[in-house]
Amino acid sequence: MTWAKELQNNVTGTAGLREYRSLSPEEEKRLETVLHKYPMRATRYYLSLVNWEDYEKDPIYRLCVPTVLEEDSSGSLDTSGESTNTRLPGLQHKYRETVLVLTTHECAMYCRHCFRKRLVGLEEAGEKAADPKAAASYIRSHPEVSNVLLSGGDSFLLSNQSISEYLDLLTDIPHLDFIRFGTRIPVTFPMRITDDPELLSILRKYGRKKQIFIVTHFNHPREITEESIKAVRLLREAGLAVRNQTVLLRGVNDDPEILSDLFGRLTGIGVLPYYIFQCRPVTGVKSQFQVPIKEGFGIVEEARGRMNGQAKSFRFVMSHKSGKIEILGPSPEDGRMTFKYNQAKDREDLGRIFFLDLEEDRTWLD
Ligand code: SF4
Repeated sequence: MTWAKELQNNVTGTAGLREYRSLSPEEEKRLETVLHKYPMRATRYYLSLVNWEDYEKDPIYRLCVPTVLEEDSSGSLDTSGESTNTRLPGLQHKYRETVLVLTTHECAMYCRHCFRKRLVGLEEAGEKAADPKAAASYIRSHPEVSNVLLSGGDSFLLSNQSISEYLDLLTDIPHLDFIRFGTRIPVTFPMRITDDPELLSILRKYGRKKQIFIVTHFNHPREITEESIKAVRLLREAGLAVRNQTVLLRGVNDDPEILSDLFGRLTGIGVLPYYIFQCRPVTGVKSQFQVPIKEGFGIVEEARGRMNGQAKSFRFVMSHKSGKIEILGPSPEDGRMTFKYNQAKDREDLGRIFFLDLEEDRTWLD
């Protein structure tokens, strides 16, 4: 398969990085230490999007190439309490209606801002990827579950055979309304889609039995290329709906113009934005990428004001241990920040609105 061969050509360390830029011996040594903890994998395709003339300020570079800033050990590697929601190896059940399956620990690219840094690319991570049959059997025995998110890692890095197996098992469960694939493949390695007609025919076949959504993750307008547009078009022609989640990231998209441009272009290619996530306080991520909540809200609102109606239907949320909390903005009465539980681990919290006096530099809720 050509795409699998192409992946073997990925840049995974400082030797490969030196093909693109020089590294001092000191930086190389420190990067090696970082890579031991958080592996690097960047596709040649994604690296071709970097502006190597000015890479240090380049948002695409920031997303795919590690820096020594990842040595910072503050924060947490499980900010959303995933370990407490794990019911079977690789299967999480946090919200009543939704099951999340970690289908693999691999991705085409290991994004530097990833909130699953604790496991992506790490075979020896203490967590195992799910077993498809065990996952399907759990879902079958929980009639309250109406949808499944096949995530990872990147679920589109599974072989066609594994994707088929998941779909075969899941499309047969009557109480499931739809199935989602969480994948950054359209962004980081669209060839996995454009060069593999077999994958598309599998998706088309099972999509006739049950609605399939692709939840992808564009963060910057420069990720929208001829190749990614083609991948999205093929997915849509196969009958799938494609939606996007973006993370608000310092030095990448913390600018209303960039966000409105991104969302406008996404709607133009048939990808509906539905969440902007507040960046989580992940170890190795937070100090580089987090934007304070108040500042982030201002950026997002200014961007929203420039968007078309389709693009502005998204929500600005934080995926917190206690639930998915929407950031609604300052209360007109006293200026305190208003939040609302759109999803809640504890059902009693669902829909609850609360107010907090936030410091200017507050980036997360305790
Ligand atoms: S593709 Fe997704 S899971 Fe994989 S490293 Fe990137 S953000 Fe993390």
